[in-house]
Amino acid sequence: MEVEAGIERRATRQLMVGDVPVGGGAPITVQSMTVTRTADHEATLQQIYDLAMAGADIVRCTCNEPEAAEGLARIVPRSPVPIVADIHHQYRMALAALEAGVHCLRLNPGNIRRPDHIRAVATEARDRGVPIRIGVNGGSLHPDLYEKYGGRVTPEAMVESALDEVSYFADVDFDLIKISVKASSVPLMVEAYRQLAEVTDFPLHLGVTEAGPPPVGLIKSSAGIGALLAQGIGDTIRYSLTADPVEEARAGRALLEAMGLRERRNVDLIACPSCGRAEIDVVTVAEEAMAAFADREIPLQVAVMGCVVNGPGEARDADLGIAAGNRRGHLFVKGRNAAVVHEDEMVDALVEWAELIHEEGAEAALARVDTEKARREAEKDRDRLLVEQGVDVNDTGTRIELIRRHTD
Ligand code: SF4
Repeated sequence: MEVEAGIERRATRQLMVGDVPVGGGAPITVQSMTVTRTADHEATLQQIYDLAMAGADIVRCTCNEPEAAEGLARIVPRSPVPIVADIHHQYRMALAALEAGVHCLRLNPGNIRRPDHIRAVATEARDRGVPIRIGVNGGSLHPDLYEKYGGRVTPEAMVESALDEVSYFADVDFDLIKISVKASSVPLMVEAYRQLAEVTDFPLHLGVTEAGPPPVGLIKSSAGIGALLAQGIGDTIRYSLTADPVEEARAGRALLEAMGLRERRNVDLIACPSCGRAEIDVVTVAEEAMAAFADREIPLQVAVMGCVVNGPGEARDADLGIAAGNRRGHLFVKGRNAAVVHEDEMVDALVEWAELIHEEGAEAALARVDTEKARREAEKDRDRLLVEQGVDVNDTGTRIELIRRHTD
């Protein structure tokens, strides 16, 4: 499938996180982080598999204690995706994680402050060819920078923190670097990334930190990450949600697919907003369809429409859709009526047809059925609804008349 992004991406260097390329025009990758104790390697591996299934290309695990580093040594060889070790305050944990064979480190310059420690880690990473993400966080900025910028976290302070770290790495000829400048404020992180993108060509990892629980966390992350991606900035992303991390991976993947920056992997479910014409509970049927398609990798656009009066026309570009009318579901493929099913079988029929179209193509699927008969049935139900409900079921015409009494 062709990606239709129309977004010119900023040119960056490329590095490899395990076998996954980041930057340099590579597909933008989705990251997430495990919430299990890394020392519990079986539970952590289970979560890594769940995240990979949900769309994560790279997974980060905390390495905050010696047992975590030992857990990583067991996790890395069995993981389906590359592993990044998240290092907090102890540079020795970074060295231990490298010993465990991780594919990348994430260091927070605000937490590991001694230049000799930073250089020791960078030297070891350089010798092993392992990249490091410099993860500046607005909430844990180095105190000197905080003071220098007037006791405030500013985009300039965050960029300076990242560049300071880059210079320590340069001292030991290490340049396998990607950078993040996350903040919980969307305008602050957008501006920090924008400024950083102007002064460096290292790949950037985007995120709104501590975005909170859905739906607000999803909205903040989508606003911040989406705004930057639309400007061509960003090589890898993470949603930081107060939720099951599987939600983070799903959201990241969905954002990239919605922006045309990654090929569609699963169904893109569209549904009408419902109105006075709806013949079914559109919300419930759409949710049931979402659940039915959740684990099926079928890259089609599928529509759930509340009525057969306008549904097939409004969703004529969808690969497949169903519209309700007169206790029946009218299936349509690329706007052409294909079949009629009982209202209770709408979701099952959608899944069955989606699989058929995915395997054989739309034309072959349509060739199996009597499309003319399906069209006549849909027309019959449509006419019947128009008679029952009238042409203006939402009373729009009446309302406009009333408005005009005030405005004319
Ligand atoms: S007219 Fe029909 S398809 Fe359009 S929003 Fe209303 S119920 Fe949905």
